[in-house]
Amino acid sequence: MILFDQHTHSRCSPDSDAPLRDMAEAARDHGMSLICFTDHFDMDDDRTGHCAPTWPERWPDVVREMEALLADPPAGIEIRWGMELGEIHHDPATAAKAAAAPELDFVLGSLHNLRDTPDFYHIRYSSLEECETYNRAYLRELAELAEQECFDSMAHMGYTSRYMIRRGFRAEITADRYRDELAEIFRRLIRGGRGVEVNTSGLREGQSTFPDPSALSLYRDLGGEIVTVGSDAHTPRDAGIGVKEAYQLLQSLGFRYVARFTKRKPDFVRIDG
Ligand SMILES: [Zn+2]
Ligand SMILES: [Zn+2]
Repeated sequence: MILFDQHTHSRCSPDSDAPLRDMAEAARDHGMSLICFTDHFDMDDDRTGHCAPTWPERWPDVVREMEALLADPPAGIEIRWGMELGEIHHDPATAAKAAAAPELDFVLGSLHNLRDTPDFYHIRYSSLEECETYNRAYLRELAELAEQECFDSMAHMGYTSRYMIRRGFRAEITADRYRDELAEIFRRLIRGGRGVEVNTSGLREGQSTFPDPSALSLYRDLGGEIVTVGSDAHTPRDAGIGVKEAYQLLQSLGFRYVARFTKRKPDFVRIDG
């Protein structure tokens, strides 16, 4: 298996202090052939959920850091330059400008908060019913996000359950509970030629991948073919962790290829290659 980690963070993200070189070397040492840096650019403030894009001020730092790495790359691993673009549908014009940077190989579309609502990470969930209400609202907004054109793969679908489970509520987004909502999102992504990420961060705390296997299986049944895999590592310790397990999961569900993005175009690499 030729393993690619296409979702990682560095000190260019507000929630990581990892040097880029350390991340790349750790990913290589954990068996990766390729690392794509996808530092955060959210449209909203994480505490209030109000629109407050920081892209214009922060982008020059990313350019400086990435150019320094690419000028003297570590041996034994391919580097890609991506971005995790959050809440695109809350400010589509700014998001489209950010995603149009010619340097970019790959853009993840993600959703960390509902409109004018704090990040799912900050919410203090108090009942299973409340979690399910949030999950339905999350899926409605993901369906909106799926219609946006400026990203390549939808990040960590269903990851809200990470925080809910930490508070004691088993509110996983599975195809059993949310089939119609998930199917609508997948249909929109497939129609638009965009993919789905298998995010392995949940595996590191005893949870499932995001999306979970039942949702990935539904995506496959609907004809979904574009799949990327990412660890969502914010530290060198986590770089590449879980990627091999995700490939094996995909294989067991009948997927044969993983998409590798270069300059916003996928090529398809056999999982068993
Ligand atoms: Zn994210
Ligand atoms: Zn991330």
